[in-house]
Amino acid sequence: MADWDLLLTDARLATMRAGDTDYGRIDDGALAIRDGRIAWLGAKSDLPAMRATETRSLDRRWLTPALIDCHTHLVFAGNRAAEFEARLNGASYEEIATAGGGIRSTVHATRAASADALFRESERRLLTLKREGVATVEIKSGYGLDLDTEEAMLSVAGSLGERHGMTVSRTYLGAHATPPDYAGSNRDYVEFLVDEGLPRAHERGLVDAVDAYCEGIAFSADELTPLFERAKGLGLPIKVHADQLSDCGGAELAAAFRALSADHLEYTSERGVQALADAGSVAVLLPGAFLTLRETELPPIDTLRAHGVPIAIASDCNPGTSPLSSVRAAMHLATALFRLTPEECLAGVTREAARALGLDTDRGTLEVGKRADLALWDIEHPAELSYWLGLNPLVELYIEGVR
Ligand SMILES: [Zn+2]
Repeated sequence: MADWDLLLTDARLATMRAGDTDYGRIDDGALAIRDGRIAWLGAKSDLPAMRATETRSLDRRWLTPALIDCHTHLVFAGNRAAEFEARLNGASYEEIATAGGGIRSTVHATRAASADALFRESERRLLTLKREGVATVEIKSGYGLDLDTEEAMLSVAGSLGERHGMTVSRTYLGAHATPPDYAGSNRDYVEFLVDEGLPRAHERGLVDAVDAYCEGIAFSADELTPLFERAKGLGLPIKVHADQLSDCGGAELAAAFRALSADHLEYTSERGVQALADAGSVAVLLPGAFLTLRETELPPIDTLRAHGVPIAIASDCNPGTSPLSSVRAAMHLATALFRLTPEECLAGVTREAARALGLDTDRGTLEVGKRADLALWDIEHPAELSYWLGLNPLVELYIEGVR
């Protein structure tokens, strides 16, 4: 009997292990897989005398951990191209909102869609990510804002992952916006989420984490506290849309609940960054939304670096503020807009993205024992993964060791 199922040789490895420099690169590397996990990796010259069922030469191509998109809203119906066009033709946000536009139009379309239609419309966005090397995706609810549609979104998210062999981490985002029937009474709506929305979705096995939109135009930190206490009581990890448009104490709220991540962070203060560092939360940066909204306030990159807060990057794929179905485009935008380095960008969609989903012991780096989720690239250097915009150098994606 063979020791390994598959041995990949003649590869250049970017292991992306924490603490390593220069992408954790191993030239002339080899990597062995058994039962869908990495069983051995290192320089080919150090290969132990083991037998593999199949051996493949990778012709000196680069092998990295498969990519992870740790913040998306990719399950939704309809789109907002008409509003996008109206705005570019001079319509104001108020005019669009008055005409039923904005998030309300997506809520309306998503509530009206059948599960099949929701699956089909969302599938092409998921597959676009898979085609560029993504094996793990986080998908949020938040366009139902009622019992049944929120659950339908999470259920479709799970089915999409099963159908395409990808890991989908499902996040309950009932506190995305206040639905029309609760207009003006945020506290009542949060009470509904605490008493019914979240516990029922959790009971049905649909929830891996809980997120909320902490912002002046959404929910205050005070309003969200009962929801996060409930999540904690149910043993669910927390994520927060924090400080995107103003410093509303979102980072501090995330830290108080030891959140997996605080996301956006354009207006986070140094105190907020320090709180994230103390809590061990990941900062998830979303350059697609920054670009689409033509933001000018940069996230506090240098402060995050100085305090050692791990930085992840994600597409934030959503129909309003980030119609971006590409984590690799997000990497490029993070270099162009936020001046992140290519190495930070690759770490941001592998190791740190895994951490933002609480999956870091299982994936996100090339290490023995981790899932053999691997991306093989036709590139000469891993910086190319942040450099090219629109060119897809993916050769193969392995999920649990299978192409
Ligand atoms: Zn988002």
